[in-house]
Amino acid sequence: MTFRLSPVWWPALALASPVVAPWLFIRHRRFQKERAQSAELNRIRISHAEPLDLPELDFLELTVLVEWKTDEGFMGDAGVSYLFKTDVGSMLYDVGFGPTRPALAHNAAKLDFNTDQVDALAISHLHLDHMGGMSAQRSQQVTVSDELMPSQAKPCFLPDRAEAKGFKAELVKKPRLLTAGIASTGPLARSLFILGHTEEQALLARVKNRGLAVFTGCGHPTIEVILEMVEHLSSEPLYALGGGLHFPVTGGRGNRAGIQFQTILGTGKPPWKRITDEDLSQAIAAINAAGPKKVYLSGHDTCDHALDRMKRQLKAETNVLRAGATYRL
Ligand SMILES: [Zn+2]
Ligand SMILES: [Zn+2]
Repeated sequence: MTFRLSPVWWPALALASPVVAPWLFIRHRRFQKERAQSAELNRIRISHAEPLDLPELDFLELTVLVEWKTDEGFMGDAGVSYLFKTDVGSMLYDVGFGPTRPALAHNAAKLDFNTDQVDALAISHLHLDHMGGMSAQRSQQVTVSDELMPSQAKPCFLPDRAEAKGFKAELVKKPRLLTAGIASTGPLARSLFILGHTEEQALLARVKNRGLAVFTGCGHPTIEVILEMVEHLSSEPLYALGGGLHFPVTGGRGNRAGIQFQTILGTGKPPWKRITDEDLSQAIAAINAAGPKKVYLSGHDTCDHALDRMKRQLKAETNVLRAGATYRL
């Protein structure tokens, strides 16, 4: 178990405690209120969700542009960008850290990918590792490098209000078909202690002779809530589940200056509480109860310990996604 905040910071934290402690107290009260509001919002959204008329796809293929683990020759990063192709079109899901880090541009060039090849972009949620980096998050503007900008503006489906440079920003308010036969769960909420109210949409599609495929970004709303929504959207059996589940149990990815940001900022708990093995056990039980045949885990927000446990304890055939690899579902 590693320190989430390096001991180097402890004297500074002790010095700042007269300011930090009252702030944490006030923030915690707001967090408890927001957490209850998010849960209520999700409950209403799920109970009001109407089944979607999902087209039956001949195939669904995922090529991973950005992930923590990689195939040889590809760059890894603590962000996500997935390219989905179906027999009726294609869609890019998330743009990693966008132009602020080299992984997306490097891997896209290696795969000969540009956004003119897709019908639309969808963003799982408005965090830097999915919408194009820190300045993209601060300015609430999805950002890709000029080379990856489409020559004609195409839709960018968003779970919350934001802009998208070079794209036509479109707010997804509830579950609906997006493009290429792929649908969105609509926004699902989670209150994060420091990052605040977060809306995230997962993708779902129906593949012939298989069933449903569901993909998440960071999995902030929790996999339990996402799967509950999916159950309301389709009676098809769950075939494949993939993407981020946010389990930095023993440590985060992309740590900077001795701070494990993922274990402190994105957890849905106060910063003094860790994500635990018990939390992971609950998620594993929920996934096993949903019974997918295949699971495609993201290592971008989940530590190796959690990935290993899931590989051992999930009943499904379980893979860890790698940048540069293509998965046919
Ligand atoms: Zn993430
Ligand atoms: Zn996130």
